Amino acid sequence: MEEKKYKVLSIGAHQDDADTSAGGLLKKLADKGWDVRLLSLTDGCRGTFREELAGPRLAEIRKKEAAASGALFSGRYDCWDVEDARLTASLENRERLIRYIRDYKPDLIITNRPNDYHPDHRNAALLVQDASYLLTVPFICPESPNMTYMPVMLYWHDSFQKPYPFRADIVVPVDDTLDTLVEAACCHESQYFDWLCWPDRLEIIDWPRDRQKAYMKERFSRMLARHRDLYATEVVAKFGDAAESIKHVEVFEICEYGEEPSKEFIEMLEK
Ligand SMILES: [Zn+2]
Repeated sequence: MEEKKYKVLSIGAHQDDADTSAGGLLKKLADKGWDVRLLSLTDGCRGTFREELAGPRLAEIRKKEAAASGALFSGRYDCWDVEDARLTASLENRERLIRYIRDYKPDLIITNRPNDYHPDHRNAALLVQDASYLLTVPFICPESPNMTYMPVMLYWHDSFQKPYPFRADIVVPVDDTLDTLVEAACCHESQYFDWLCWPDRLEIIDWPRDRQKAYMKERFSRMLARHRDLYATEVVAKFGDAAESIKHVEVFEICEYGEEPSKEFIEMLEK
């Protein structure tokens, strides 16, 4: 019998969300033969402090940056045309997302939690939640055949405390895929080497690319080592003696609107 080809869909509001928030896991899954798909729900056209870039020009640049990142996971990176900072959980966007997910038929969906400082992030999570149950309902968007199963849904990590702090249900050691995650982040030159340096770290913009990339590696490495410390109890509970050699982890919370993942499914993600 042919082995099942699993599919993962990572959904973010902006082009540097879906990959940099779960890139260690995505690379692991790609290496295991999973099909990887990434989606940015907005065009990212306002992520800049440069007047000459803001608008359709930046949207085009970010589309190319996203494609380069997607290639690192052997995956397609789609970008919708919804204007940056104007994403709403509208009926139109919900139904568009339902059709999109039904068309791809993922086994796993990853996104951010609905608690977030950025309205686009909040609305991205709301759209995924709003779409979830309806994926299986035949007379919602009847032109697109309903799904007959519910994908597993996970949230990537955040530090927001209200209404409740993040819970690390899934722990993925990413020491061996950290480099790809950093490379993916470095694809978003218009962001990490420009916009996100504004207004306090403008000097980074003029650094040579090698120094910028080394800085990014240090930044991501520090962040995921911090997650290893923060969730040390979970890491030890899951990996026992092997936990000692694990330096970096990505952690995910299970979204209860998706299919409850089986023990075997969780092992597939963590091992
Ligand atoms: Zn974002």
